[in-house]
This record gives sequence, structure tokens and C-alpha cells, in this order.
Amino acid sequence: MTDWQELESKYYMQTIVRVPVTLVRGKGARVWDDKGKEYLDFVNGLAVNCLGHCHPVVVEAVAEQARTLVQTSNWYYTVPQVRLAQLLVENSCLDKAFICNSGLEANEGAVKLARRYGHLKLKGAYEVITTMGSFHGRSLAMTAASGQPSMHEPYVPLPVGFVNVANNDIEAIKSATTDKTCAVMLEPVQGEGGVNISDDDYLKKVREWCDRKGILLILDEVQTGIGRLGALFGYQLYDIEPDIMTLAKGMGGGIPIGALLAKEKASVFAPGDHNATFGGNPVTSAAACAVLKYVIDNDIPGNVKKVGQYLMEGLQKLKKKYSFITEVRGRGFLVAIEFNGDIAQDVLMACLEKGLLVNKLKPNAIRLIPPLIVGNNEIDMAIGILDEIFSGIVK
Ligand SMILES: *Cc1c(COP(=O)(O)O)cnc(C)c1O
Repeated sequence: MTDWQELESKYYMQTIVRVPVTLVRGKGARVWDDKGKEYLDFVNGLAVNCLGHCHPVVVEAVAEQARTLVQTSNWYYTVPQVRLAQLLVENSCLDKAFICNSGLEANEGAVKLARRYGHLKLKGAYEVITTMGSFHGRSLAMTAASGQPSMHEPYVPLPVGFVNVANNDIEAIKSATTDKTCAVMLEPVQGEGGVNISDDDYLKKVREWCDRKGILLILDEVQTGIGRLGALFGYQLYDIEPDIMTLAKGMGGGIPIGALLAKEKASVFAPGDHNATFGGNPVTSAAACAVLKYVIDNDIPGNVKKVGQYLMEGLQKLKKKYSFITEVRGRGFLVAIEFNGDIAQDVLMACLEKGLLVNKLKPNAIRLIPPLIVGNNEIDMAIGILDEIFSGIVK
């Protein structure tokens, strides 16, 4: 039997600390490795396969479009791209969409758009305020935007024009705002940075501040968008509207795609300002159309809200039972369990052994990001496995 992990170490750049399992097949909330072992997948492509693995809606949309038209240049109009933009706009508070291929690309576009806005409307303002613990992607500019010093150090000097301030602190944003500021960029819930939930009124205060200063509010909903938090978009839970919003992860149900959306007033790109060869590709756009339609027509965010509550109740019971669990936090299907020691890797490996995939968020925390379609049964299974593992930890 081929040792894929050995081959990987020979041929692939060693940039990723991987979990020692080779996945070969998936269906719904389950995946199988190359030895035939089955796992309940609560990582799901890192919050990507929102309808689970190989959902027929995604598979058929891709197959059908692949038979019809795979790629054209954006010099031409294509049907899936226009349909997708229409779906996104008609189901959000934003007015215009640009389709791209990933989260970082959407965020780069958002920052470029905010800078255009600054040049045109704010006397050349170009600086974007972001928060500590945020994650916006791994291009050089998005590395600078991400408020994580350990990401910065290997790549200095980084592009200028980003100020990282304390998270969940409106005063920090206020005191960092100058006449150079064109936008504030935030995740409604910080995902990669630790599933950090802000105070309920934080986003509202940021919105008010941006309005007062005439600067733009960019919401990075790459992880929180498309139902993850129990609403189609995260901003809906906080009773505010962004000027610019970015999407990716869950958007294509596993197919790589992202989007940049803007209100009319912020939609200031002129012809020639921005483009992407593969952006709004017919196949990826057709997949995203099918996913978005399915998510909306079947009230998938409603499922996340309901089952998410059940998940949280189950985890709270575990927290009561095991004193080494210091915190359980999250919204919808974006949830973290934090421990009083660095045992996340041990928990992850024990879960793997018992057939459950979880994500190591920090040395002392794991993240559960199940596909949006799971019900109470799968939650019971996952909680049962965690309970069994935790009962073996003596602390
Ligand atoms: C994953 C993520 C990104 C980066 O997306 P990529 O598709 O990996 O480039 C950006 N912002 C947030 C909030 C993310 O979770």
C-alpha cells in the first residue's frame, strides 16, 4: 500500500503541520481514510463543506456546468456569474458583487476598494484598522492586516497601511482613527484567532463610529458567512450592515470561490481597476449558486441555530463534568472548547482514534465546525466520543 504521508514529505513543501491521516472519500458528515476507517467530520474542510461532503446539489451543478462551459475570460459575460451576483445581492444588504477564488483574494479586493474610496472621497486616506487576533489571509497585505505578530515576523517588511488594535475595544478603534483612516475591517466572530466572541454591542458601536467619521466598515465573513453562525450572514445577528463584506469558505460547498460585496456608495471600482482570471468562473459560480439556493430554500441557517443550541447545551454539560474544561464558547456551528492546559493535540489524536475529526485551534483549545446539515444524532455521537476521551483524562 502506498505511504502517501512519506511521499508528501518527499515532494510537498513542508509548510503545514498535518494530522497523520490520508482522506480519500467523503459523504455527508463522514469521511474515510486510505485504510477504510470512517470518521465523523467536525472540521469539514475548515468550515468549507457546508452541505457536507459530495452533496448531490454541488456534484450535479459542477458536472452539468463542466459539460457546458468551463472557463471564459471575464472579457465576456457568463450566465452562472451573473446569477450568483444576483443571488448574493438579493439575499444580503449589499448592492454589488465581485466574484473571486478565495478568502484572502476577497479581502485584498475589499482593501483595494476601501483605498479607492479613500482616494476618491476621503482626501487620499488609505489606512485600514484591524484587530488583534484577527485572521484575514496569507498574502503579504493580508498577513499585515491579520493581528497576529507570529504571522508577521517571518516576512517583514510587510506592506504598510494596516493598524492592528485591541479586539472588542471601541476606544482602541477610536484612538487609532486618523485622517489617514479609510476603513475598519473585522470578523463578526474571530475564527482562526480563537473563536472570540465580542460584546453584543461592539459591532454596533463600531458601525456608529464609522458613520460618524465617514469611513467604511468591512466585515470579513469568510468564515462566519453562509449560515455558519445560525444566520445567512453574521452581520444579521448584530443588527448592523457593513459597507463591504467578503465571503469564501462555505460559499461553494467545497468548491474554491470567494466574493467581495459592497453597498452602492462604496462600490467605486471603475472599469480596469480590478479583475481575476478565474474570478466568477462558470463552474465554481454554478456550484456556489446551487449551494446558496439550497441553503436559503431549506433554511439551513435555521438548522444551525437550533442544532447549534443543542451542541452548546451538550458541551456545557461536559464543562460541568470536567474541571479541566475552562470555557466553551461559540455561536451556531463555530464552537471552541478551551482547557486549562496544552492538551489540544492529545484530545485531537484521541478523537482521531475514535473516529471524530476536530480542529486544534490553539495548544489549549479545540474547535468544532461541523457541516451545517448535521442533526442532533451526529451531535450526540461527537459529544459521546468527547465524553469518553475526557473521562480518561486525569487532571
Ligand atoms: C480562512 C479565512 C480567510 C482566508 O481565506 P483563504 O480562502 O484561506 O484565503 C480570511 N478571513 C477569514 C475570517 C478566514 O476564516
